[in-house]
Amino acid sequence: MSAFANALTQLETAIAHGTFDPAAVELLRHPRRTLQVSLAVKMDDGSLRVFEGYRVQYNNARGPYKGGLRYHPQTDLDEVQALAFWMSIKCAVVDVPFGGGKGGITVDPKALSKGELERLTRAFTRAIADVIGPERDVPAPDVNTTPEIMGWIMDEYAQLTGNSSPAVVTGKPVALGGSEGRGTATGQGGFFVLQELQKKIGIDPESATVVVQGFGNVGRSFAALCHRHGWQVTGISDSHGGIVSETGLDPEAVAAWKKEHGGVSGFPGSRDVSNAELLEHPCGILAPSALENVITEENAPRIRAQVVLELANGPTTPGADRLLAERGVVVVPDVLANAGGVATSFLEWQQNREGAHWSEHEVFQKLSDIMVPAFRAAWEARERGGGSLRTASYLIALERICAAMKAKGWY
Ligand code: NAD
Repeated sequence: MSAFANALTQLETAIAHGTFDPAAVELLRHPRRTLQVSLAVKMDDGSLRVFEGYRVQYNNARGPYKGGLRYHPQTDLDEVQALAFWMSIKCAVVDVPFGGGKGGITVDPKALSKGELERLTRAFTRAIADVIGPERDVPAPDVNTTPEIMGWIMDEYAQLTGNSSPAVVTGKPVALGGSEGRGTATGQGGFFVLQELQKKIGIDPESATVVVQGFGNVGRSFAALCHRHGWQVTGISDSHGGIVSETGLDPEAVAAWKKEHGGVSGFPGSRDVSNAELLEHPCGILAPSALENVITEENAPRIRAQVVLELANGPTTPGADRLLAERGVVVVPDVLANAGGVATSFLEWQQNREGAHWSEHEVFQKLSDIMVPAFRAAWEARERGGGSLRTASYLIALERICAAMKAKGWY
């Protein structure tokens, strides 16, 4: 199933549990604007290459479009549409005043030099400059994009438009107005959610084990937080493969190993496994933190986790969702579990607009004040409605988005 088909299935499932105007639902089945651009980049060897880039502006009823940029060889329009849809839902779940957007380029950034990556990013910024801006559409990092790349976007946008507001992107370096804590915010938000969930379903951190698929910005910071708070991290993977250890892994030591050896595999005291085996490793919390569609109808019967905490976007297909629910596995949906990233992007945007600079402590206190009520509201809605936590989160978000669209006279 394509990522966008997955997203629309989730929408239809939620709609079936609520009462929504058919016109509002029809609006939500379509992105408001889809931009596809061809980017010509001069390579270091003097040759010219053309890359495909995308920006999808899904829904802005509640505020400027907001969403990251992904650089990946498999990125295509379908994926970006799905991610932009999920951003619309996510911003409404945590009640930040943004709509949903997403962008990406079909590229393997690891095969480019730093200069090529910068020229590609600047070409992309020029191609989308007309439709982004602090009040219009605010990009941020996602898979394979970094604060440095956000800095290039901010600079190129300022040179083109004369608008040097730092609020045109979030997830930038602190030196350019980035927020303290943004780098680890998605993992931190996921951890706040896990702590709340623990109070509801009584997981004992001493005996609960955590397996994390994907060891980038999100997976690594989440794993480190779990370890620091006494949860035992027994499995970690990256795109090359995974490792498991029943006695627990120290994520910081694994990160140092990955830096030196190019991957987590071979970490001393652990056993190498494939990414498929890692997902099926018995654990309390399974946190997919890489890409979409990794938990499917095929492997869902073999997932042996009490909780799936979706730190990646779209890791579970609708068929797998159903199978996991039948087996009593609690799935904390992406639109809630990984919303700490966009929530902190909102805090960054707010600081930029106020000319403020908050400490990491202040930022995480404000993040907790966003994430904890959002989780509790979704949990209570699930208890009332009896569906999944995903459907409960969607219903909360859809009510907010539909109310804004109605108030704007869109239907
Ligand atoms: P990243 O580029 O920093 O890290 C991605 C990680 O996934 C890397 O460790 C990579 O090796 C690994 N990976 C790639 N393919 C894999 C595979 N097939 N199996 C196992 N591991 C694989 O990206 P990120 O920012 O950490 O994003 C990860 C996920 O979290 C994405 O789904 C993204 O959309 C989502 N997300 C990110 C943020 C954010 O703030 N960065 C916010 C919300 C959601």
